[in-house]
Amino acid sequence: MTTPDSHPFIPAETARNLAKKFGTPIYVYDEKTLRNNAAECLAFPSAFGLTVRFAIKACPTAAVLKLFDSLGLHFDASSIHEVRRAMHAGIAPEKISLSTQELPREFADEISAGIKFNACSLDQIERFGKEFPGARLGVRFNPGIGSGANGKTNVGGPDSSFGIWHEHAGAVRELLRRYGLTLERIHTHIGSGSDPAVWQRAAISSLAMVRVFPDVDTLDFGGGYKVARVAGEKTTDLQKCGAPIRDAIVALAQETGRKLKFEIEPGTYLVANAGAILTRVQDVVDTGVGGRNFIKLDTGMTEILRPSLYGAQHPIFIEPSLIRSNTPPRKVVDYVIVGHCCESGDLVSCAPGAPETLATRAFPQVEIGDLCVIGGAGAYCSAMSAKNYNSFPEAAEVMLTTDSAFRLIRRRQTLDQIIQNEIS
Ligand SMILES: *Cc1c(COP(=O)(O)O)cnc(C)c1O
Repeated sequence: MTTPDSHPFIPAETARNLAKKFGTPIYVYDEKTLRNNAAECLAFPSAFGLTVRFAIKACPTAAVLKLFDSLGLHFDASSIHEVRRAMHAGIAPEKISLSTQELPREFADEISAGIKFNACSLDQIERFGKEFPGARLGVRFNPGIGSGANGKTNVGGPDSSFGIWHEHAGAVRELLRRYGLTLERIHTHIGSGSDPAVWQRAAISSLAMVRVFPDVDTLDFGGGYKVARVAGEKTTDLQKCGAPIRDAIVALAQETGRKLKFEIEPGTYLVANAGAILTRVQDVVDTGVGGRNFIKLDTGMTEILRPSLYGAQHPIFIEPSLIRSNTPPRKVVDYVIVGHCCESGDLVSCAPGAPETLATRAFPQVEIGDLCVIGGAGAYCSAMSAKNYNSFPEAAEVMLTTDSAFRLIRRRQTLDQIIQNEIS
């Protein structure tokens, strides 16, 4: 894989300035890209009203939540902890919808405050019904269809535990009756693939569920709108993906008079390419003739776990730490790029979909101290890292604002914070 010249919102000079001011590694988010992505999602095709919910788990930092809140987005929480974190950031509870694999024992305060709840199992309906008889709720169904780039992001179909299996609709109806509950919202989230034909089939099967439950006024279609991080990957065309769903909703209205409101819950689409990791080459080693050349970064699975977890591909740019205009052109070398953890799985340049297979990226000869930008790191990076492994502190986060300023939005963790809950 050859390398493009420079990261779109962190060109060499910006990289040097950021590194000088904040050190490395840091996460950098670009406000302009976040705003553009939000505008694209808010233009998703819809017939009778659209709510866009940011999937908090993709990037839960308060400054990001607040920016999206100011742009009119609502929020999808994957745990009661995300609900509390968003409320702590000042998000109004009625803008938060909870769809969780683990319903906590205590959730009455948040429900009373006005959050929306999607039950994701029959037991969750039962527990919600016992605590809030007569209340309104949503139900997450597994429509029997999945879509994902790999098994780990495919969250629909018979091999997925997410949501209530679509054939259990009778049991859902029985629980609603027993507790006097009103099912107002049907939720499906089938994963992160980019095949519009799959979206269309999932939309049709979701609308079949809507027909079975007459009180449903909202269809929440979840997230999973994939974006290209590197060449060869495909970004979901939201207009193309949404058009058949909108048409199906219009057809349902013509036939039954039911005007369904529509919701989507993008995580990846909103933030993935709006974030990057600025890191430094802290060592360069080789394994002799016929061996490998390795770049060791001052980041790794502690900030970006996706390569180790999924074999995910991220664009990588090396920015010379000093302007080397006077030096002769350097020869291009194939490098394996690894992280800083004592763990052979801490491999950044893995083969696509193969976390343990070494792949190389070609760069003009790299020197210790060079800066490196890992792109496509806005989603599921800061949010999903091997935090504090090898006791590396959690990295700082910076926002590049639309007036070209750098704003620190999370400080680097200190040793005291790493050990603050230990009792010795
Ligand atoms: C993770 C998740 C999303 C967001 O998925 P992306 O692939 O990041 O768009 C949306 N809704 C629910 C319920 C989720 O669990």
